[in-house]
Amino acid sequence: MASIFTKIVSGEIPSYKIAEDDNYFAFLDINPNAKGHTLVIPKREENKIFDLSKEEYDGLMSFSYRVAKALEKAVPCERIGMSVIGLEVPHVHVHLIPINTMADMQFMKKEKLTEEEFLAVAKRIAENFE
Ligand code: AMP
Repeated sequence: MASIFTKIVSGEIPSYKIAEDDNYFAFLDINPNAKGHTLVIPKREENKIFDLSKEEYDGLMSFSYRVAKALEKAVPCERIGMSVIGLEVPHVHVHLIPINTMADMQFMKKEKLTEEEFLAVAKRIAENFE
């Protein structure tokens, strides 16, 4: 069965899209640690990150780099934190999180955003994506 993220790539499930190319897709996390928390995925469904081929892993990291650069410009923060977990959704995803404190990386303190806030921050990040 297709993962929830595969359904996001196909458009079957909506998302706040940031950017995509032929192989990778970036969108806002729906339950963010902080405003701008973004997920970057390979479109090809794979459960664990180190089961990707070296080439696909490198491509995912390169795409994540570009998204992180856009995030830095779009969201005021101390730095961009990066994490890979995957215990909830078995489709490889890189968490890119604008952080100010260690607590922002702990997946406990969550930020509630309105629809308008999700749309506005997604637009700002997408506009800065190169
Ligand atoms: P994990 O698999 O533990 O790395 O976490 C999965 C992440 O995916 C969590 O941060 C969720 O908030 C996020 N998530 C789950 N469903 C969606 C969705 N439909 N759209 C955006 N983010 C999602």
